[in-house]
Amino acid sequence: MASFKALQTDETGERFETRLIERDTSELPAGEVLIRVRYSSLNYKDALSASGNRGVTRNFPHTPGIDAAGTVAESTVADFAVGDEVIVTGYDLGMNTPGGFGQYIRVPAGWVIKRPVGLSLRESMALGTAGLTAALCIDKLEQAGLEPTDSPILVTGATGGVGSIAIALLSRLGYKVAAVTGKAEQGDYLRKLGATQIIERSALQAGTEKPLLKEQWAAAVDTVGGDILFNVVKSLQRGGSVACCGLTAGTNFQANVLPFILRGVNLLGVDSVEIPLVVKASMWDKLSVQWKLPNLDDLAQEVSLGQLPEAIERILAGQQTGRMLVRLD
Ligand code: NDP
Repeated sequence: MASFKALQTDETGERFETRLIERDTSELPAGEVLIRVRYSSLNYKDALSASGNRGVTRNFPHTPGIDAAGTVAESTVADFAVGDEVIVTGYDLGMNTPGGFGQYIRVPAGWVIKRPVGLSLRESMALGTAGLTAALCIDKLEQAGLEPTDSPILVTGATGGVGSIAIALLSRLGYKVAAVTGKAEQGDYLRKLGATQIIERSALQAGTEKPLLKEQWAAAVDTVGGDILFNVVKSLQRGGSVACCGLTAGTNFQANVLPFILRGVNLLGVDSVEIPLVVKASMWDKLSVQWKLPNLDDLAQEVSLGQLPEAIERILAGQQTGRMLVRLD
């Protein structure tokens, strides 16, 4: 048994409040692997959990944090030994299982990946679920036939966690990237990540009533959903694909069949949470070698547990730029 610090979201009437508390490892759920968390990261989904979204977290009090990287403190399985450096993302972590915003987590061995040799624990959480998702989106587009000579690739929600890493990865892989953002002042940041064209979000919000739009994009990574997503579908080049992973602009959109039957475009769904562990592991391997970003340490701002509640408000308001790395020590 060990006492540790964790962030906890409490429900009081209609309100949800997140504060720093002391917990004990004996209060953690059963599981094969106890992990001393060194780093976590802040994703939009964590902010949904911390603000009482029942689609993410049903019961409170709760410790959010869908990402965790740390060292094994106890293990009842042969696959993991005390001291192993490991990564856990997704499944139920931080949803209804106490998550990475606590200094310890206890989880099933089937959720745990050994840290790939080419990434430090800190680098793995600079990427976190956002990086894993961006990689899955690009992988899915490439499986659908995308090649670096196809151009340009659109990324929506560009300054967000998934968006910013998608731009950096696409640029690293030789793609020409157009970035859609609601933050006009972040043009320099997006160019530094590798975007060669910056598009105001309002341009992607126009034309929802039209059945088709001018063919522009060879492919797209869409992190926002809503009518923006379908406007992207309507402006894909013939045979192009969009990887759809997010919902910050909404879950519903007005759609029609014409882009599919006249231009043969593809709408590809991407889930990073419940996919098999081997698929996650193969993406982490890619992110640690062939797709490794050179500037990973500078890609995320670091915050402590105590600074997280303010960062949660910022990400909920769509105001966060880039990745937030959470230091647990
Ligand atoms: P962030 O908050 O970091 O990024 C979202 C970005 O979307 C914002 O920075 C902003 O970028 C843009 N945005 C915000 N509000 C709106 C709006 N009302 N309309 C249009 N654009 C908006 O979130 P994450 O990067 O962590 O996650 C992005 C999305 O992907 C979330 O919906 C998340 O739930 C989802 N997700 C899904 C996963 C999966 O497995 N399918 C895994 C990980 C994330 P800008 O100002 O530049 O436009």
